[in-house]
Amino acid sequence: MRWALIGASRIASGYVIDAIRAQEGAEIQSVLSSDAERGAVFARDNAIPESFTDLEAQLADETVDAVYISTTNEKHHSQALAAIAAGKHVLCEKPLAMTLSDAVEMVEAARNNAVTFATNHHLRNAGSHLAIRDLISSGRIGKVLSARVFHAVHLPEHLRGWRINDASAGGGVIPDITVHDADTIRFHLAEDPVDVVAKAGTSGMGEGVEDSVMSVWSMPSGAMIQTHESFTHAFAGTGIEFHGTDGSIFARNVMTQEPVGEIRLVDTNGETQISFETHNLYHRALGLFCGAVRGTGSPSADGIDGIKSLAVAHAVREAAQSGSTVRVDYGGF
Ligand code: NDP
Repeated sequence: MRWALIGASRIASGYVIDAIRAQEGAEIQSVLSSDAERGAVFARDNAIPESFTDLEAQLADETVDAVYISTTNEKHHSQALAAIAAGKHVLCEKPLAMTLSDAVEMVEAARNNAVTFATNHHLRNAGSHLAIRDLISSGRIGKVLSARVFHAVHLPEHLRGWRINDASAGGGVIPDITVHDADTIRFHLAEDPVDVVAKAGTSGMGEGVEDSVMSVWSMPSGAMIQTHESFTHAFAGTGIEFHGTDGSIFARNVMTQEPVGEIRLVDTNGETQISFETHNLYHRALGLFCGAVRGTGSPSADGIDGIKSLAVAHAVREAAQSGSTVRVDYGGF
């Protein structure tokens, strides 16, 4: 399977190039950058044969089967539509697009052109989250009453830029992190938030976009979800908790790109440490994507998952701006 990278990004160089190359028979043929020099340096540094500044020229390579889109968020929509029209399978970064209707258009275009389309929500690939989901789905904590997501991190200097100062590129903690938490809650509970309330603001980093948000979501089952996402918390650590009628799950340091963390189950038997697999999250995501392209199985997060996580994030932002309860609009999905 031959790949083209759309975007000379840090997530590509830091995680996804390695994950693509970990798949049997996978090769990366080219990278697209808006800046010829950055593209050439990125290609050289990552041993990629070609770099392009023109997407049409890159996509004209008929030997390329799939693209990975990891540009800033406002570019995902047009780049995905072009790749789909060229018959390429698409792994797209989150958030899929700036608007829900754009995300829906991308997913429908992929369907109509019979190409595989997936969203790169990495957390559901973590051994920790797979173990938590198994605990919940096997009934170990009974009926889930509530969950809390602790995802307040300290954004390192090199990742700031557009994330903290450019709303037009999709900056802000809600499109950056709340989408992941929406996907993770949906993954664990197999249901979609109905409505949300939220407060957002800046706490030292955001320049024109929010850098912190807290929200509460209602689930169809009656479970209540509390979330906290931030770019400014140097010492908070991350985690997720699920509280049920028969037990509670406490997971720490699991809202991360690395296969780390710890999980405790507390119930009438006392406290149990839960072990989990420590495979690379992105290797698993790419493995499932390549399997889906070959016709065996599904991507770990597909296009509809990407639409739904974006829908929740938009509802959270609207709720924070309006001060009202906002019903989540899933665009018909
Ligand atoms: P980067 O800022 O590294 O890259 C985004 C774009 O910025 C690139 O496409 C590139 O443009 C440009 N760029 C990169 N490096 C520089 C530089 N040194 N100077 C100027 N411009 C530069 O973003 P991320 O990799 O952090 O994020 C990219 C996408 O991936 C986003 O959609 C984000 O939400 C998502 N993401 C997902 C993660 C996940 O785990 N699923 C984790 C991190 C990000 P060009 O291509 O034109 O050269």
